[in-house]
Amino acid sequence: MNGEWRAAVAARESEAMAWWRRWVERESPSGDKAAIDACGREVAAAYGPLGWRAEFVAGAEGDHLILRPPAEVAGGGGTLLLGHLDTVYPLGTLARMPWREEGDRAHGPGVMDMKGGIAVAWLALRALTAAGGALPAATLLLVSDEETGSGGSRALTERLARQARAVLVLEPAAGETGKLKTARKGIANFTLRAEGRAAHAGVDYFAGANAIVELARQAVELASWSDEAQGITVNCGVIHGGTRSNVVPAEAELEVDARAWTAADLAAVETRLQRLRAVDAGVRLAVTGGVNRPPMERSPVGMALFARARAAAQAAGLELEECATGGGSDGNFTAALGIPTLDGMGVVGGGAHSPGEWAARRSLVERAAVLAGVLAG
Ligand SMILES: [Zn+2]
Repeated sequence: MNGEWRAAVAARESEAMAWWRRWVERESPSGDKAAIDACGREVAAAYGPLGWRAEFVAGAEGDHLILRPPAEVAGGGGTLLLGHLDTVYPLGTLARMPWREEGDRAHGPGVMDMKGGIAVAWLALRALTAAGGALPAATLLLVSDEETGSGGSRALTERLARQARAVLVLEPAAGETGKLKTARKGIANFTLRAEGRAAHAGVDYFAGANAIVELARQAVELASWSDEAQGITVNCGVIHGGTRSNVVPAEAELEVDARAWTAADLAAVETRLQRLRAVDAGVRLAVTGGVNRPPMERSPVGMALFARARAAAQAAGLELEECATGGGSDGNFTAALGIPTLDGMGVVGGGAHSPGEWAARRSLVERAAVLAGVLAG
């Protein structure tokens, strides 16, 4: 059947394009519960005619949407399709970057990340449902808070992943050749806080302990832990402190984003941070934070899943490659549980999180053919 999936999904392309557009035009910025819930209802509406059952799980920043096949599929333990409803674009962005089709490119807020991935899933599941017979066991989970770190949805994602044999993540593909992602760096976020002693810069300068100077020294030290060959990065991204130029600053804060390919490397950065000592004896340092997303380490089970996707692609006349990326997704959580996870199943495009975000229209059918083939195989 594999070879026929491309024709099966192509037959429904215009239907899927119409939903894709509707979902892009239904803006759903992170944190806007009303907007995200409206988007969730509109995605659920596309599954009604397929007989799929929608369940909304309450979330503070927006409800998470679970879609299940018409009847409980025998055996269970199927595939979890994982995506998110939220985008990084504030409400009203659509007026400045409306849905627009130009040649093979579709434009609009979240067109690639990841309304396009939601459309890929719908098209694949539409074709599978239309093919009749027993549906492969699959559950679709669309969370509402991925772009802000998935704090409210992580437990739900992990619970559904534990019931699955494999997880396919609908995030955009990598690069214009549409590579799948078999490894992602883990991410840790820290705040380094310095407490010194305020003093008059003119009268009492040497009685002060400068929190900004302390953090500046620490920032240089932290940056030196980055290791290009090892793939470790320690980014000092935000720094603030002080009150006035004529006051020795008593307080300053530094926000750090650390990334690594392995849990061990990330843990090593955390340990080093905890052991930091102030250079100035008059300053006290405090570190808060920790690992936000564990690494999705390249694994034999993940690569086996990629091999299945490549075979499904070949059956549809397509070539697929894989790669590793420094960006995180909810696939980091599921891979860290040991569940085979393959990411980047969504559309191909570029300019994510920017006014120029675009997606390749042809990739909708191509990716849906691959997804249908993997699910059916
Ligand atoms: Zn995304």
